[in-house]
Amino acid sequence: MTEPNVKEIIQLMKNPSKKDALLITKAYNFAEKAHEGEKRFTGEPYFVHAFETGKNLAVFGMDSASIAAGLLHDTLEDGNTDKETLEKEFGKEIYFLVEGVTKLGTLKYHGIERHVESLRKLFVATAKDVRVLIIKLADRLHNIQTLQGHPKKEKRERIALETLEIFVPLADRLGMWKLKGTLEDCSFPYVYPKEYEEVKELSRKRTKIHLKSLEKFHRSLIKEITSHGVKDISTSYRVKHLYSLYLKLLRYKMDITKIYDITAIRVIVPTIEDCYKVLGIIHGSWQPLPGRIKDYIAFPKPNGYQSLHTTVFTGDGEIVEIQIRTKEMHREAQYGIASHLAYKGGLFQRSSKKTKEIQKRLGWIQELLKWQEQVSENGEFLNELKMDFFKSRVFIFTPKGDVVDLPEESTPIDFAYAIHSHVGDHVSGSKINGKMASLKTKLQNGDIVEIITGKKSRPNRKWLDYAKTSMAQRRIRLWLQKNTEEI
Ligand code: MN
Repeated sequence: MTEPNVKEIIQLMKNPSKKDALLITKAYNFAEKAHEGEKRFTGEPYFVHAFETGKNLAVFGMDSASIAAGLLHDTLEDGNTDKETLEKEFGKEIYFLVEGVTKLGTLKYHGIERHVESLRKLFVATAKDVRVLIIKLADRLHNIQTLQGHPKKEKRERIALETLEIFVPLADRLGMWKLKGTLEDCSFPYVYPKEYEEVKELSRKRTKIHLKSLEKFHRSLIKEITSHGVKDISTSYRVKHLYSLYLKLLRYKMDITKIYDITAIRVIVPTIEDCYKVLGIIHGSWQPLPGRIKDYIAFPKPNGYQSLHTTVFTGDGEIVEIQIRTKEMHREAQYGIASHLAYKGGLFQRSSKKTKEIQKRLGWIQELLKWQEQVSENGEFLNELKMDFFKSRVFIFTPKGDVVDLPEESTPIDFAYAIHSHVGDHVSGSKINGKMASLKTKLQNGDIVEIITGKKSRPNRKWLDYAKTSMAQRRIRLWLQKNTEEI
């Protein structure tokens, strides 16, 4: 880790104005003074943590107000700054951001109540301004990267587990994949130490064999693409993050030979048209594996991820995944929503098509807020949160083409209740992609689902098993309670 230096942060920013540079310098100096003499548990000056948090935000491509707030994020909590001074010096906007993180920054974990209340507060502030959450994530990133310095084993494990269970899914929903991968890989050894060692070893052995053949293939790939006149391409390999490899291995009984994307080649091209052209060129020269061609450009993942994926036989007995995307998609895949928040004057004052798209993507934060008002018991809060909001998501379509975003393994019952409780209460059957299907069928991403209702149809107890979302379960239970009492 380098000595803090404000220039480093400013250099990481995209076209900072003079005003931006002045603001960052002011926040830097202010935070340095506020934390003077304080030490972290690692023994280094506390200010290093503030600096690294600000730096992370610059790397994510965030605006100057967020970076300044990142530098200042612990000044109220640990530094000896009062609220009035901070607001007077930096204005309402930055004060709001710092205050938003401050309340939550001191998760002291005196029991679950305190913990849950802190999360609730985080969601309330995030619903007002999503930058609060991103600052929190930048803060957590540095904490988890330096977790080995924490003296208490029990606390290390708890912070790592909380990162995996709460902050990783949040990063995922913001489309911040690079951050997600790092948070996961840093938490992994603390939460599952044995599995971590095992996966690390499996990956190391497999990657060693793979990389040799990959290099050769990579060279022919570039030659083939450029010979077809596609210009301005750049390529790279990536080795799969260990934790995501672990999750995949669990699905394949730890058999690493079944995993084809342990290493992948990325091809980055200027336009969408080039993406499809390159896919055509690759399939013209190498045999693709059936069923593994994925068009996330036409059908983006629920968190906004776009790319073309294909897996081909290299010709020397190896199989390799190739991901093709534009520069813009690549940036988006790494930094997600953060790459769109750098606009001056706040994102939501603009009404471009892009802004609307992003607002739609952040709709889940408003849902989260509505949802948390309904869950009054703190004990249920974490379980339901993990179930409804943090599971991997699938996009399900109505026959008219409207999209409903649901957790994985949801069924037509969940879909019906997500549309309207009245629809849910009167389900008599469902069609998936035009065919009649049982109400317990697990929906797949992209399914078109039609709910058939009947005036006399009503919920029954079995539905409680079919429903995956707690929202549907709660409404079914409510209906059953009301109607059994009457009978
Ligand atoms: Mn902090």
